[in-house]
Amino acid sequence: MTMHGANTQSGAGRPNGSLEEQYGALAVDTALSTLLAVLVYVLLKVSLDGIRQWRAKVSVLIVGSGPVGLTAALVAVRSGKVLKLTVLDERPRTALLCRPQQIALDPRSVKFLLGLGVDFDNMEGCWHNEHFFTKIGVFQEYLLSILEQKKQKVNVKVHLGVKFTEDYLRRLPGQDWPRIIVVADGSCGDSCSVLGISSDYIVESCNAYGANATIERLDQRQVPTPEIRAHSLYFDLSAYGVDAIKETRGVTQAAAMKPGFHLKIYGTFRNRYMALVCPLSDSKMVRFLRHTTNSSIMKNIFYQSFNAYKTDIEPRLNELTQRHMQCSRKLFEVLLSHRRVSAAYVEGDNVAVTVEGEAARVLNFDTGCGVNLGMRGLESLGRFIYRTATAVDRNDVLEALSAKIQHSKQVAESFRQTGLASAMFQ
Ligand SMILES: Cc1cc2nc3c(=O)[nH]c(=O)nc-3n(C[C@H](O)[C@H](O)[C@H](O)COP(=O)(O)OP(=O)(O)OC[C@H]3O[C@@H](n4cnc5c(N)ncnc54)[C@H](O)[C@@H]3O)c2cc1C
Repeated sequence: MTMHGANTQSGAGRPNGSLEEQYGALAVDTALSTLLAVLVYVLLKVSLDGIRQWRAKVSVLIVGSGPVGLTAALVAVRSGKVLKLTVLDERPRTALLCRPQQIALDPRSVKFLLGLGVDFDNMEGCWHNEHFFTKIGVFQEYLLSILEQKKQKVNVKVHLGVKFTEDYLRRLPGQDWPRIIVVADGSCGDSCSVLGISSDYIVESCNAYGANATIERLDQRQVPTPEIRAHSLYFDLSAYGVDAIKETRGVTQAAAMKPGFHLKIYGTFRNRYMALVCPLSDSKMVRFLRHTTNSSIMKNIFYQSFNAYKTDIEPRLNELTQRHMQCSRKLFEVLLSHRRVSAAYVEGDNVAVTVEGEAARVLNFDTGCGVNLGMRGLESLGRFIYRTATAVDRNDVLEALSAKIQHSKQVAESFRQTGLASAMFQ
């Protein structure tokens, strides 16, 4: 009976299995259920993280509605991570939109802007060599109109004629505090100091000497105009005792002194600009133009260069109209200044700040396509906003800031390596 009873008991479990087999089966069962529990946990966590990341949105404040600030606003909207977007500019609308200078968007900036939904066919401007030329005010007005359309999807507030100050920040109600501030207040802005960000700059040579000139002729038209470039230029300075061009064994010394000067004429017919640049060199001509105290020499160079390379349909400069021209007195070294601190975390207020455009990096020389340097910095802004919005803790925000700083440094370095060449030398 006992035997039978024992058999019946084992028949209810595993009729023929030994004790080891039973333990083995139990272990497999346990492993399978643990695996299942882990899988369910991972799946749940991934979906909860996904939902959290999908829902994560932050308030963004953009200081400055120049071309870079307004493009930053479009990037923010595109990131899909903005709960509320506020854009400020201390200038009232009319002052902001009547800026006459022309901007030249290079092919890379054009591609970037197309990706943000900019429709160049709907903007006053002209194309030349895959560059788009428009007036800064026209560009800003167009971007403001796109932001206006976005108001249906995102809470966008544009406050023109409002300056960003300590007082502005103090008066913001707690719930309106932004998690991200993009400072794009140009080369003269002081918003970084309001936020306690160091105003130290790193100043580096671009290995070139340059000079700029402007001609204002109020009787000329103010429509976007393609730029003109000329290369390998040499100037006859023999009247000043500098014999730069001498024939030696059939080869001109000028040819031996390659690559000479590069000239660009740009801007509208009403506000004409000229940029003259040459690689760093210790040639007699360069040394002379670097140190001369006679301001009429540079004036003469620009005067003659303009008349030699201007378009056929615009008037020549003459003795009378020459007085409308202002220019550098001598060649100066082209320097790029970029902020030592281009992004920061404001402890306590839990705000991540990034500095963009000319507020972050600026040349002491106008190349006629300066705005592109600002656009390069914005290429990492969307990712920065996404990472900050979806950050789980302070460390994630610091990592996002560190990546932004790294990119900002790369932008400055790659401009130093190739920027001047593509803006002027080709
Ligand atoms: C005479 C001249 C000619 C130029 N020609 C060309 C050219 O031919 N091609 C070209 O590509 N580029 C040209 N540029 C350069 C071009 O204008 C700049 O690269 C471009 O404007 C920089 O854009 P940004 O948005 O960084 O700064 P900005 O255009 O300077 O915009 C900054 C904005 O911030 C606002 N601001 C400042 N402080 C505050 C504050 N505290 N609160 C709120 N708002 C504030 C300012 O009002 C301003 O609107 C020229 C510049 C000049 C001066």
